[in-house]
Amino acid sequence: MSARILVTENIVGPGMEGLKAKYGMDWDKDLWRKPDELLRMVGSYDALVVRNQTKVTADLLNGATRCIVVGRAGVGVDNIDVKAATDLGIVVAYTPEENAISVAEQVMGLMLCLARRFPGADASVKRGEWKRMEFMGMELFGKTLGIIGLGRIGARVALRAAAFGMRVIGYDPYLTKNHFTVTETHAELVDMDTVLKESDFITIHVPSTPETKHMINKDTLAKMKPTAYLVNTSRGSAVNEEALYEALTKAKLAGAALDVREEEPPEESPLHELDNILLTPHVAAFTREAQDRVVESLAEDVDRVLSGKPALRFANFPLPKR
Ligand code: NAD
Repeated sequence: MSARILVTENIVGPGMEGLKAKYGMDWDKDLWRKPDELLRMVGSYDALVVRNQTKVTADLLNGATRCIVVGRAGVGVDNIDVKAATDLGIVVAYTPEENAISVAEQVMGLMLCLARRFPGADASVKRGEWKRMEFMGMELFGKTLGIIGLGRIGARVALRAAAFGMRVIGYDPYLTKNHFTVTETHAELVDMDTVLKESDFITIHVPSTPETKHMINKDTLAKMKPTAYLVNTSRGSAVNEEALYEALTKAKLAGAALDVREEEPPEESPLHELDNILLTPHVAAFTREAQDRVVESLAEDVDRVLSGKPALRFANFPLPKR
């Protein structure tokens, strides 16, 4: 009997077509919204393919008695109980590199929009106005960019910011000064306080961990320049939104851009009323190129594990038990 794959979110592309042609596949792009139904079904599948909405809990994995691989289309694996998967001998394959360029490009776009206020200017012209002086902006050139988390995305942002003539500093306690993301990008490794105090722009690129939860809070915001801008495309948990609202409304911070939120989709939020915040619906990785790369790599790894080969991109290294 050929292996069976269950896809619980909107994951399409040539890579998935290849899997479908080779294995049995059931696909319901809204299954992530129906955890009880998912739990009832999951025991019949050898592979589970998800994006970031499906909660792959220990309970779900325990019910996935045939499953040998969970494929996560994307980077963060915080929606998957990786430890439970490892204990059960289930490989968690993911796509750590595939969308990094798109996220880095979105960061540059958000910084330019904050510095030049393009969204406000666009809305103003469409209202029939022509208020040139109101949209006096500032250059990125010569400004200091502080990057929190100099990993795959942070390093790519550093390279692009350097091309804009920015001074790039970064805080990442897990990198040494000889790590290639530091040496090759020429980002200067500094401590968190230096990033907070010296940056004109701060961009966050850390994983969601207990240590990074609310790393941007009342105290850290108070150390930032009141003229500075904050960009978060990492995980919503890194920024305390209440403290951010306070900083934005009390002139302690010039502006912010958030692609990710503490709650997704967000509840009604006072942030939505502010002119000095730019909000996007977790789309930093949503480009055709990135999604094609993600799906192709993911499909390759799901196929490899189902064929008895090791995954090329994996978040854990379980001893095979199944
Ligand atoms: P990565 O693992 O390559 O890099 C993360 C870096 O953060 C690492 O270098 C790590 O040492 C550092 N780090 C860990 N804890 C830290 C801390 N307390 N302080 C400072 N640095 C710390 O990850 P990546 O691929 O660059 O992704 C970064 C983030 O972006 C992740 O949270 C990921 O989920 C998110 N992401 C979001 C989107 C989106 O659509 N908005 C898309 C892709 C990735």
